[in-house]
Amino acid sequence: MTTSSAERLLKDLGLDTKEATERLLSSRRNKVITKHICSCGHPEGRHFIDAESASCKPNAMDCSCSEYNPTLKVTDLRPFLQKSRGSGVDHALVKGLTSAFMKEVEVEWLGSGMDCKKCGTKEGTTIYILGGSESAGLQMVQDPLWGRWNYFLCEPCADNL
Ligand SMILES: [Zn+2]
Ligand SMILES: [Zn+2]
Ligand SMILES: [Zn+2]
Repeated sequence: MTTSSAERLLKDLGLDTKEATERLLSSRRNKVITKHICSCGHPEGRHFIDAESASCKPNAMDCSCSEYNPTLKVTDLRPFLQKSRGSGVDHALVKGLTSAFMKEVEVEWLGSGMDCKKCGTKEGTTIYILGGSESAGLQMVQDPLWGRWNYFLCEPCADNL
């Protein structure tokens, strides 16, 4: 068995090569920027996330998102800097998906994806900007800047809010 010189030098340093290799690989992995999009329609990296809540600043304008909710995995973050003007087609997530389609960016659902937040169905759901709270009851908001939550809901659950 031949020993490479780097391996010998690592051993001179008292290092186990297998352990050193794993350490290097894991530090590289940590540097990979995730290409995950929150349900608010903006990249994970635009969020400030702590234990209790989150805030989102996609660019010059603010987003009222208060919970980082990984929803999409994408190959390019650039389409996902849209402004929400309401729910559904006016929502930043749907606008981002439309832009991704136009730019041929690959996207896939993460986690529960577009499942209804209340009943879990995958059928006929739409993304809403909501106010209130999950414990006290979610509410529709008129102005997207008042909404802290971005959840998919099916039509019956949306009507029952
Ligand atoms: Zn968000
Ligand atoms: Zn956002
Ligand atoms: Zn539902």
